[in-house]
Amino acid sequence: MEIHHCPCCAGTKRKASLNVVDHMVSKEVFTVSLCSSCGCGITSPRPDEIGPYYESTAYTSHQDENGGLFGALYGWARAVAARQKVRLIKQSVKKSAGALLDYGCGVGVFTARAERSGWKVAGVELSDAARAKANEKLKQGRVVKTRGDLDEAERFDAVTLFHVLEHLDDPAETFRWIRSRMNTGGALIVAVPNYESPDARHYGAYWAAWDVPIHYWHFTKEAVSELAKSTGWFVAEVRPMRLDAFYVSLLSESYKTGVKNWFPAIYQGIRSNILGGRKNASSLIYVLRKAS
Ligand SMILES: [Zn+2]
Repeated sequence: MEIHHCPCCAGTKRKASLNVVDHMVSKEVFTVSLCSSCGCGITSPRPDEIGPYYESTAYTSHQDENGGLFGALYGWARAVAARQKVRLIKQSVKKSAGALLDYGCGVGVFTARAERSGWKVAGVELSDAARAKANEKLKQGRVVKTRGDLDEAERFDAVTLFHVLEHLDDPAETFRWIRSRMNTGGALIVAVPNYESPDARHYGAYWAAWDVPIHYWHFTKEAVSELAKSTGWFVAEVRPMRLDAFYVSLLSESYKTGVKNWFPAIYQGIRSNILGGRKNASSLIYVLRKAS
């Protein structure tokens, strides 16, 4: 399927493109074209049937246990990240607990952590296997398959999309729907990879966070800002996700050289965090608020 309109600014002009291999599953080549006005990267054409491209035992965010040193570190990093995310939602809504919707919650590590911290949690997760694992972790909260399965009357203080927006067919429509379910003073928190980061520049087409074709979109700060503006939000804050540079660099090294080269990956992770600073990290977190 060809994608003609930019999901963020609706622009139809493209300024550049690059070819990226799906290293994870199919080894097929996909083209990412950049919107000439906001810079959003668009995977086009993309497969009509996306399901088979997720079918990888390596889709780590849908796993609870991963073998080896890499798996152990991934598990540790995910637990650290879950604690940081709970802190972030508290700061963003300026209260210690409220109602949270974790959109695309995977196996629910963060969702469960938020529930233990006193949040009333709900999750949406399309993958049957991941959703079952997430529900096992929750006491009161519930993870449903699609947002249509949520109670009509439910409203939220925080809605989180951690590495989810780039997988969604229609980001603008999703932002509008979230706006209609948001309590006053609430925050929409979105984390996406940043292809302008130093690690992305270093690895080029080997950069692991292109993750084609399952990443439909590749956001820039300007693209997120355009998307927010067109759907009744504004970007109140941008924060770095510092661990992502290490994880992404390690995967990128293995795509580039065929082996997990720890030292170059750690070096690139540190370099990316130093050069990128707070606003140009490997992945960025955007805190959005309703525009009046
Ligand atoms: Zn655009």
